[in-house]
Amino acid sequence: MPVGRYPLNGLRGCLTAARWDRLTAAATRWAATLPTVWHVNSTDNGGGVAEMLRPALGYGHALGLGLRWLVIEADTDFFTTTKRVDNGISGVPGDGGPLGPEQVEGFRRVSREAAADLGRFLRPGDVVVLHDPQTAGLCEHVADRGAIPVWRAHNGADRPNAHTARSSAFLTPFLRRARGLITTRPHFRDVVLDSRMGVPSASITPFIDPMSAKNTDLTADAARSLLVRAGLLAAPDAGHPVVRVGTAPGADVPMVAQVSRWDSVKDMIGVMDSFARTVAPRTDAHLSLIGPQVDGVADDPEAAEYFRLCAAHWERLPRAVRSRVQLCCLPTADPVENARVVNAVQRHAAVITQKSRSEGFGLTVAEAMWKGTPVVATRVGGITAQIPDARHGRAVALPDPDDLFGGAITELLADPATGAAVGHAARERVRDRFLPDSHLHDELSFLGGLVG
Ligand code: UDP
Repeated sequence: MPVGRYPLNGLRGCLTAARWDRLTAAATRWAATLPTVWHVNSTDNGGGVAEMLRPALGYGHALGLGLRWLVIEADTDFFTTTKRVDNGISGVPGDGGPLGPEQVEGFRRVSREAAADLGRFLRPGDVVVLHDPQTAGLCEHVADRGAIPVWRAHNGADRPNAHTARSSAFLTPFLRRARGLITTRPHFRDVVLDSRMGVPSASITPFIDPMSAKNTDLTADAARSLLVRAGLLAAPDAGHPVVRVGTAPGADVPMVAQVSRWDSVKDMIGVMDSFARTVAPRTDAHLSLIGPQVDGVADDPEAAEYFRLCAAHWERLPRAVRSRVQLCCLPTADPVENARVVNAVQRHAAVITQKSRSEGFGLTVAEAMWKGTPVVATRVGGITAQIPDARHGRAVALPDPDDLFGGAITELLADPATGAAVGHAARERVRDRFLPDSHLHDELSFLGGLVG
């Protein structure tokens, strides 16, 4: 994946002088000592990893670092298997299909083929960061070529269970020769890997790019106008490309929104239920559930099925609630346009939700926090560190039989002053911890330690 140099001035403007100096000093050191660092994942578009890799490389290049990004290609069977493994790592059952010898063999074959392609680029001593289960099978091949494989697990579960054990058993044989492991939360390490593997590890949180089309400043007017043009807000003459179930709300109605891939882990159906049970009867808000288009998403074969389930659930909502809920699939062919619309949603919404059952790190949570929009999320995985207390948002523990989730949305809608204070603190938390300089610093320091 070609990624050019990103201008550094915008990023610099978001940081204190001390943070900026720490970054540039470290970059000078790394440029002199680090070999080429390759990142390998399974998609260049959609989902959190691609979202992060582009700015990581763009800023890294501008700082003079030798970073590269490769995307593996595979068939649907392979991605069905890796999705199963990834769901297991997250502690959830997924489609419940097998992970037996047939899946291991298919995974091994595709990994071998991808490794042959990768081998054309690698030099001994290079560092190769393999992202998520899709690329774990490359580990031994990378080691065979004298390069240094590091596996990065973006997902994880708070507690081991039968699903994590099954995925760990699948992955561990492929990862025996990893020289380093990066997880998003420290305890994820014990969930995804056999504890007997004595490999050095680091816990590094992802980040958002404050200068990207998704996160850059937009006025309220510009956000509204983008949403009208995209078809997410009602307008008499909007000719819009969005695929939608339900009716777009007017611009003056409070919007509750969740932006997610169509995946049961994100529990869009649960958001509809909370809205119907607790929010709709007490407020005049509308709910927008927004995700990418579901056709042609190569590495996520379950997306179309989950969207269909959501649409069927919407059909069963009481009529008065249904008219206040829309499900929208945004076109992804133009990633910048897609990002601008997501940006506008996260700014226009009165409350952003993220009702994940499990989450390595919620990029959508950090994106909304950066925009000063109050977030109501579940207290799972990385979100626990993103929203540590009520000053920064609302993180509701699961299970949630009393629908405290819906209660928190209702409370923030009713009290915009509290919402604004929470949004302000949330933005500062993202500035402190989840911007690109922190990530580059932590990741390259860890990789530098493995090389040196
Ligand atoms: N996203 C997007 N368009 C969509 C839905 C999601 O660009 O229609 C982005 C979203 O803004 C975020 C990423 O996809 O940057 C999802 O990352 P997250 O960590 O929330 O979840 P993941 O997909 O990695 O499980």
